Amino acid sequence: MKTVDLIIPVYNEEEVINLFHNKLTAALINLPYIFTIWYINDGSKDGTGSKLAEIAGNDPRVQVVELSRNFGHQAALTAGLDRAQADYVISLDGDGQHPPELICELLKLAESGYDIVQTERLDAEDISAFKRWTSAAFYRLINRIGSTQITPGAADFRLLSHQVVEALRNMPEYHRFLRGMVAWVGYKSIILPYNPPPRMAGKSKYSLQKMVRLSMDAVFSFSLVPLYIGISLGILMLLLALIEMIYVLSFWVTGNISHLAPGWSSLMFIILIVGGFLMISIGVIGVYIGYIFQEVKGRPVYLVREPESLMENGKASDR
Ligand code: UDP
Ligand code: MG
Repeated sequence: MKTVDLIIPVYNEEEVINLFHNKLTAALINLPYIFTIWYINDGSKDGTGSKLAEIAGNDPRVQVVELSRNFGHQAALTAGLDRAQADYVISLDGDGQHPPELICELLKLAESGYDIVQTERLDAEDISAFKRWTSAAFYRLINRIGSTQITPGAADFRLLSHQVVEALRNMPEYHRFLRGMVAWVGYKSIILPYNPPPRMAGKSKYSLQKMVRLSMDAVFSFSLVPLYIGISLGILMLLLALIEMIYVLSFWVTGNISHLAPGWSSLMFIILIVGGFLMISIGVIGVYIGYIFQEVKGRPVYLVREPESLMENGKASDR
């Protein structure tokens, strides 16, 4: 029988965890796989830890990983991925918003040959207009300025084959945006849309601050576009200098020099030229830093699909 690791990060979920585990157990009945359920306790400050210990005591499939403090959702997922050894690895939230009933569907698609089965959250009424709007704006931005296309509404609810997990393990970057990293690795993937049910209990643990941090990680680790802003601004200033020159010349040509304030033209010209060159050089330095940043991340230059590994010699990917 094939093995499956389930990775479930939890942070202050004492109200939901028992409910969730029962729902999960029910969903796994009759599935012909050997499951290991990894609960990653992301430094919960409530009774989640003791509840997890109790669950692990009653269910031999359960493994609990305790993080030393709250490192955040993406770090907790990574802790799980680092431990996963199974043929398939499925990550899902511990609040019931990623319905465990879909696990059966995910495994079916994996068996038909997909390495990544990515779920896509369809719009749910109970998600606040603010979250929906910011999420849509975020995906539009990241897909416009980044070179990796990320499905809007892609959740951290997905199945990964063993070789994709291996690939992710070779991406030890600190600022992690797993949705982007999974899109970046490539491999045969398929999207499974689902209707998100409401949280079983408790409140969302994604504060506005955590959401902002996650989107910054996404923007800055998947795009160098912000670096080119300096260069563009510099070029804009040089263009303004040119326009100013033409404007001043027009006074000369029409013989209206007396209408120009003395000293204005030369001062304006110098400011624009110097400003432009400064912005451009800052931008150029920024680009170098960006390249250093990409090197420091130490991502692999290419990844190889296992079966055809002999035929496909490493092609450099889009970095
Ligand atoms: N979570 C975590 N660490 C955090 C924040 C959240 O492990 O710092 C877990 C949380 O317990 C849940 C999942 O990540 O299982 C998704 O969080 P949440 O449901 O609060 O986010 P939302 O669904 O509102 O985006
Ligand atoms: Mg949730």
